Amino acid sequence: MGRVSGKRALVTGGGSGLGAAQCEMLASEGAQVVVADINMDGASAVAEKIKGAGGQALALSLNVTSEEEWAEAVDATVDHFGGLEVVVNNAGIAIPANVETTTMDIWRKTLAVNLDGVFLGTRAAIGYMKDHEGGSIINISSIEGIIGEPGAAAYNASKGGVRIFTKSAALHCADEGYAIRVNSVHPGYILTAMVSGAVAQLPQDEAKAFQDRILGAIPLGRMGEPDEIAYGVLFLASDESRYMTGSELVIDGGYTA
Ligand code: NAD
Repeated sequence: MGRVSGKRALVTGGGSGLGAAQCEMLASEGAQVVVADINMDGASAVAEKIKGAGGQALALSLNVTSEEEWAEAVDATVDHFGGLEVVVNNAGIAIPANVETTTMDIWRKTLAVNLDGVFLGTRAAIGYMKDHEGGSIINISSIEGIIGEPGAAAYNASKGGVRIFTKSAALHCADEGYAIRVNSVHPGYILTAMVSGAVAQLPQDEAKAFQDRILGAIPLGRMGEPDEIAYGVLFLASDESRYMTGSELVIDGGYTA
C-alpha cells in the first residue's frame, strides 16, 4: 500500500519541473494521477513515464486561467478514474520585473496564471469534492508569497495572494463542515526551467550577482531538488496530514528562517 493509494489526483503544470516530480511521486505512492498542463507534450511525456514505471496516469490539456477548461478537467478526471480527492494547483509563471519595469501585460499575465488559476482550481475542486469523498487541495505558493523580492513585483503579489486565499478557502470548508483541507506549499529556490529561465533573462553580471546573493542566503547552502518539494505535497495529499488545514508548508533550506 502506498501513502496515497486509492486517491485520484490532478496536478496542474504537471508537465515540467516541480509538477512533474509531484506527479511521479504521487503515482509511485499509489495515486491515479492526471497530469494537467497547457503544454500537452510535457504532460504526455510525464504520463508515459509514470505508466512505464507501472503507475496510472492520464495526460490532460488544461489552461488554468479558463473556467470552462476547469469544469472539463474535473469531468474528464471523474470519467477516467471515477473520482477526485487531490488537486495540486502548481502551474505558475515568473517574469522578472521590479515595480517600475512591470508592465500591465506582465502584471495581468502573472496574476492570471498564478492567482486566477489557483482560485478557479480551488473552486472547481471544492465544487466536486464537497458532494463526494472530500479531499485535499494543495496550492503551490512560494517563499516569495511570504517575503519580498525586488525583481518580482507581480510574482510576489500573486504568491502572497495564493497564501492568504488558501486560508480563506480552508476556513470556508471547515465552516461548512466539508471534509476538504486546503493548504499552501512555499518552495524556496529549486533549479527548474522557471528559475534557470528567469536567470537567463537577466544581463550576465546581474544574473551572477542574483545567484551569488541567493546561494549566500540559503542556510543549507544549496538550491533544492524538485523531489524535496514533492515530498511535502505527498504529505499534504495523504491522510498523514489530516489535522492540517489553512497551513503553510515552507520548504526552503532555511531561506526565510
Ligand atoms: P516550470 O516552468 O518548470 O513549470 C511550470 C509548468 O506550468 C509548465 O509545465 C507550464 O507549461 C505550466 N503552465 C504555465 N502556464 C500554465 C497555464 N496557464 N495552465 C496550465 N499550465 C501552465 O516551473 P516550476 O519551477 O516547476 O514551478 C512550479 C510551481 O512552483 C509554480 O507555481 C512556481 O511559481 C512555484 N515555485 C517554483 C520555485 C522554483 O524555485 N522553481 C520556487 C517557488 C515556487
